[in-house]
Amino acid sequence: MDTPSQTVIVVGAGLVGLSSALQLLRSGHRVTILDREPPLDGSYYRHACSFGNACTVAPHGVVPVATPGIAWRVPGMLASPLGPLSIRWSYLWSLFPWLRAFLASSRNAEVERIAMVLSTLLARADAAWRPLIAEAGAGDLIEEHGCIYLYKSERGGEAAARDAAFREKHGVKLERLSAQEVRDLEPHLAPLYRGGIWFKDAYVIASPERLARLLARAIVSRGGQFIAGVACDLRVEGMSAVIRANDKVLSADRVVIAAGAWSRELAAKVGDHVLLDTERGYHVLFPQARELLTRPACYPEHGFYMTPMADGLRAAGTVELGGLEAPANWKRTMMIRKAVKTLVPSAGEGTSEWMGFRPSMPDSLPVIGSSPRTDRVIYAFGHGHLGVTMAGITGQLVSELVTCARTSLDIDPLRSDRTL
Ligand SMILES: Cc1cc2nc3c(=O)[nH]c(=O)nc-3n(C[C@H](O)[C@H](O)[C@H](O)COP(=O)(O)OP(=O)(O)OC[C@H]3O[C@@H](n4cnc5c(N)ncnc54)[C@H](O)[C@@H]3O)c2cc1C
Repeated sequence: MDTPSQTVIVVGAGLVGLSSALQLLRSGHRVTILDREPPLDGSYYRHACSFGNACTVAPHGVVPVATPGIAWRVPGMLASPLGPLSIRWSYLWSLFPWLRAFLASSRNAEVERIAMVLSTLLARADAAWRPLIAEAGAGDLIEEHGCIYLYKSERGGEAAARDAAFREKHGVKLERLSAQEVRDLEPHLAPLYRGGIWFKDAYVIASPERLARLLARAIVSRGGQFIAGVACDLRVEGMSAVIRANDKVLSADRVVIAAGAWSRELAAKVGDHVLLDTERGYHVLFPQARELLTRPACYPEHGFYMTPMADGLRAAGTVELGGLEAPANWKRTMMIRKAVKTLVPSAGEGTSEWMGFRPSMPDSLPVIGSSPRTDRVIYAFGHGHLGVTMAGITGQLVSELVTCARTSLDIDPLRSDRTL
């Protein structure tokens, strides 16, 4: 039986928290969102990972980050601070438990299992997003031309063929492209490619920041309330969850922790020790190059997408395992700039650059579900490379948990105390 309307505090106004808040309101609950700086008119939003990503809803994202053979790449990750996947020496000790679990997730059987879980979530991702995007009046931000992965060498082609077969096995629809077909689709790409893979179901949200602001407006229109502040304590007292934020004490029937890469500390306040860390990512914006590509293009060996978006061409991606505290290494964006010059020679100069914190679990699966200690606290974080894609379905699952304590998908593999 459905519970009556509840009061819910959502901590975090990234796309995951905003989607959860809007879904909860649509299900009749009363929602307050707490964020250090909510995406309301005039606010600064660049600290959220939801600001600076590659803007792509990617139903093809069934492949986890840790795949067989990754262990052999660890010395290279340490030796090349500017590589597409790198580890900061200074963070190695702190990273150790996460890294151990990351390597354990790269075993064949685990990769198959993780891909199955991801494919179930991804199959529902688009249908869950669309009503929220429509309610926010953000439909005109969607650009549906798919996304292409390219390869330059014979070896790259072999890897792409294996990758495509794996994705097809897990339900991804794709089309293999010859070099000529790539040229016909994207004539401004330098003809370095031998071929590619076209994921036709992928689409771009032309400005994730604008989407966040429109979702925030839709939330306010439905009576949702935003509070600016930093949650620093979380407790359960009797039938309530209580949050302390700056000088405020807030309480509600439920609290949803959707604080992205910063969620680990809050979960620890109720005794849940989650192996969440961050994969730091970077972007460079090429404002003159908006019209040069029709769809996101990616060479996996460079580790970033080049996505045509509202403000220009955004080259976004790479992974730096370095924690939340270390300053950005802007030499990494120099590498992105250099690569874009080769891949899209007429892109012009990159202007603004950004670094953000993907909230990442070692097994590339998010954490969605109630705390094992109390159903007053619900987790919705750890979406890694797929938070834009999976925000809608996460919001739906969170709302189902609050409304009827059951979910329409099996979320057991996503529980916070899973073995890693
Ligand atoms: C370079 C790059 C490219 C990417 N490309 C894609 C892509 O193409 N497709 C895709 O699906 N995903 C992509 N991602 C991943 C995606 O951006 C993230 O998974 C997603 O944005 C995470 O959303 P979130 O809401 O969980 O976290 P965030 O967007 O980080 O939001 C968390 C919010 O919580 C707030 N907060 C944190 N702690 C507190 C606290 N204690 N009190 C109050 N507020 C707090 C923060 O201020 C922030 O606003 C990319 C990521 C990067 C870095």
